[in-house]
Amino acid sequence: MHPLVLKQKEYYLTGATRPVQYRIKMLKRLKQAMKENEKELLESLYKDLGKSNYEAYITEVGFIYQEIDHMIKRLPKLSKIKKVKTPWMYLPAKSFIIHEPYGVVLIISPWNYPFQLTFAPLIGAIAAGNTAIIKPSRFSSHTSNVIKKIIEENFKEEYLSVVLGGREETEELIDSKVDYVFFTGSVQVGKAIATRASSHLIPYTLELGGKSPCIIDKSADIDLAAKRVVFGKLMNAGQTCVAPDYLLVHESVKELFITKLKEYINKYYPDPINNESYPKIITSHHFERLLNLLKEEKLLFGGSYDKKSQKIEPTIIEINSLDRPVMQEEIFGPILPILTFNNVEEVISTIRSFSHPLALYLFTNDKFVEKTILNNITFGGGCVNDTLLHLATPYLPFGGVGDSGIGNYHGDYTFKTFSREKSVFKKGKALDLALRYPPYDDKKLNLIKKIIK
Ligand code: NAD
Repeated sequence: MHPLVLKQKEYYLTGATRPVQYRIKMLKRLKQAMKENEKELLESLYKDLGKSNYEAYITEVGFIYQEIDHMIKRLPKLSKIKKVKTPWMYLPAKSFIIHEPYGVVLIISPWNYPFQLTFAPLIGAIAAGNTAIIKPSRFSSHTSNVIKKIIEENFKEEYLSVVLGGREETEELIDSKVDYVFFTGSVQVGKAIATRASSHLIPYTLELGGKSPCIIDKSADIDLAAKRVVFGKLMNAGQTCVAPDYLLVHESVKELFITKLKEYINKYYPDPINNESYPKIITSHHFERLLNLLKEEKLLFGGSYDKKSQKIEPTIIEINSLDRPVMQEEIFGPILPILTFNNVEEVISTIRSFSHPLALYLFTNDKFVEKTILNNITFGGGCVNDTLLHLATPYLPFGGVGDSGIGNYHGDYTFKTFSREKSVFKKGKALDLALRYPPYDDKKLNLIKKIIK
C-alpha cells in the first residue's frame, strides 16, 4: 500500500475529520492559506498559462473563495442527519440518513484551470469529512508547486497531501484502495482511471470534456450572441472544458454574426499575440496540435501565431463537413469552426452525431426553438443566451453525461458527491407483530395480502 494512503486511512479512522466544527475550521484555514498565497497563486497562473490577474482571479481564486463561503454557510445543514418517513406497518420505528464520508479520497486534476479544478473538489472532500490526496497536473507545474506549498504548510499530510507524480504514482494510489476517486481530465485518461478504480470497486466521479456546440438561431440578438461567444470561447484562450467548441449558425444570420464576432475579438483582444491579458497555449506540444488542426482550413479571421510565446490568434474557420480533423476531437484552443444550418432538425442531428457534450449553448428568442433543443439533446449543462455561466453558480450541479462525464459537483452538490447516504432503520421494542416471523402459513399469507396488495 502507498505509505500516504496508509497514513491517511489510519488518521481517518481516528475520527478526527468527523466533527462538523473541525471541517469548518479546515475550510476556513484553506481560505486563509489561499489569501496568504494569493499573489503567488496569481503569478503561477500567469507563468503556466499567461492568465491575467483579472482572469485568474475570477475563474480560479475568486471562484474558490465563493465556493468555500457557500460550503461554510451550508455545511451545518447539509451534514445534519436527515429524518425520513417510515411505512406505518413497521412502526414504531425511526428512519434516518447519515451523510457519511468515504474515507481517503484521491483528487486528480488537469492543467487548464489547475487551481480551481483542484480546490473545488477539495472543498467537498473536507466538508464531507474525508482526508484527501491531491494529484495535480505536471503541465501546470508552477501552480502545482504553489498548491503543494499551501497544503504542506497548513495541513498534516495524514489529513491533506499533494503528490506530484506521474502515471505510475497515480496508479499505485488507486491500487492502494483509496475510498473515492475524483478525476477531471480527458476522456481517454478518464476511461483508464475508471477501469482501474472499478477493478477495486472504488466509486468515482469523472469530469471530462468533449465538443460543446453553440447554436445561433435566426431569432437571436446577434450582437449580444457574438459578444458572449467571444467571452466564452477566448477565456483561457479556449482551453476551457466548457468553451463553445464549434458554432452552428443559422444561414440567414451568418454574415452578420461573423462581422460581429470579428468586431468583438478586435475590441476585447487587440494585438492578441502581444496582449498581456490573452493567455498562451500550455505547452509546445499542445500548440503544434492546434496549428495542425488549422492546416487546409478556410480561414475567415486570424490564423497567426507566435512560437516563442506559444500564443495563437483567435481564429475563425468555415467548415462544410463534419469529417474535417477539427471536428474529430475537442479543440481546446482559440479556434472557432462555423457550420451553418437551415432548420432545427439539422441542428439536432448534427449534435447527435457526436457523443453527449459537456455543455451546450443556445442563442435564441424563439420559445419553440428553445424547448425543442432543450428537450431533444442530451448534454451535461449549458446556457440559453449566454456561455459558461451555468458553471459559475453554486446552485446548479456541474457535470457531464456519457463521454463527457459521470457525476457532478459545485455548491451543495460537492458535499453530496463526497459523502454517501448511510440509511438506518431504528426499531422500537413495542408491538413486535408475530405476523413477520416464521412459521409462515396460509393464514399469515391471507393476512399479509390484505395489507400489501
Ligand atoms: P489529462 O486527462 O491528460 O490529465 C488529467 C490528469 O490525469 C492530470 O493530473 C494528469 O497528470 C493525469 N494523467 C494523465 N495520464 C494519466 C494516466 N495514464 N494515468 C493516471 N493519470 C494520468 O487531461 P488534461 O490534458 O490535463 O486536461 C484537458 C482535458 O480535461 C480536456 O479534455 C478537458 O475537456 C478536460 N477537462 C474537463 C473539465 C470538467 O470539469 N469536465 C475541466 C477541465 C478540463
